Amino acid sequence: MYFEEEQGFMKQSLKVEEKIFETKSDYQKIEVYKSKDLGNILVLDSNAMFSEKDEFIYHEMLSHVPMCTHIEPKNILIIGGGDGGVAREVLRHDCTKVDLVEIDEEVIKVCKEYFASVGTWDDDRLSVTVKGGMEFISQAEDKSYDIVLVDTTDPSELSGELFDGAFYAQVNRVLKDDGLIALQGGSYWMDIKTHKRILETSGRLFDIAMPYRYEMYTYPGVNWNFILASKKYHPTADINLQRADLLEGCKYYTSDIHKASFTVPKFIKKELLGIAKN
Ligand code: SAM
Repeated sequence: MYFEEEQGFMKQSLKVEEKIFETKSDYQKIEVYKSKDLGNILVLDSNAMFSEKDEFIYHEMLSHVPMCTHIEPKNILIIGGGDGGVAREVLRHDCTKVDLVEIDEEVIKVCKEYFASVGTWDDDRLSVTVKGGMEFISQAEDKSYDIVLVDTTDPSELSGELFDGAFYAQVNRVLKDDGLIALQGGSYWMDIKTHKRILETSGRLFDIAMPYRYEMYTYPGVNWNFILASKKYHPTADINLQRADLLEGCKYYTSDIHKASFTVPKFIKKELLGIAKN
């Protein structure tokens, strides 16, 4: 059998053996499929989040590119990320405090059961809050974080609040003067319009705002983007090469991948003229 997902003009099928779990939480439909080739696959509201085979790519790229761009990231805020994958990667650094804010406790429970290899939960630097991201960040103190990582589902009714200007204004407020944010930027290959909208909105209050690339088998079209928006440090000029290449346990991320992920094809550069800030 196949798990099928449609994204715009693309319909992608992933070969699976069976669906091994399904529930409807207060927020979304949660499914887990079992695939011989990809391991377990997490699906939220019919969109594949990751598989056991490729989750490390997404979680390493969303975490280490910002963490190795900042000169000394200590206090980190992760919004979403209920699978624990970004927390696992961020905790490879010698940060002091990682706050994870996930709206749906059911996702945490399901991921602890079906994706035990993905999440890190027992590190005493990590504190998990079950709450909406906007509600949490509105109550956070000014200049209290070095980095904010937004690891949510694509723009939807549930996550929509995390893709608008009011949210990024809060992010700007809670970040220190040299802080930075990394977030999902859709895919400039699959849907340049949405990518431009997210890049323009998220980058408005920052001096630097740039997309970077990663590839995931489980995402239709495979080539997708994150966005890094920064108050001070530049992702390729200020990368901390030693920290990047001495990181233990990475299977995808290196300083070369970090720098190369910011290369943009000419036709996309033209599209992003006046929106990307680099
Ligand atoms: N890593 C996955 C991927 O590859 O896209 C996504 C991470 S995680 C599974 C997405 C999480 O964002 C979900 O658990 C969802 O409940 C959470 N989420 C969505 N909207 C949210 C919000 N407004 N506040 C906090 N968490 C939210």
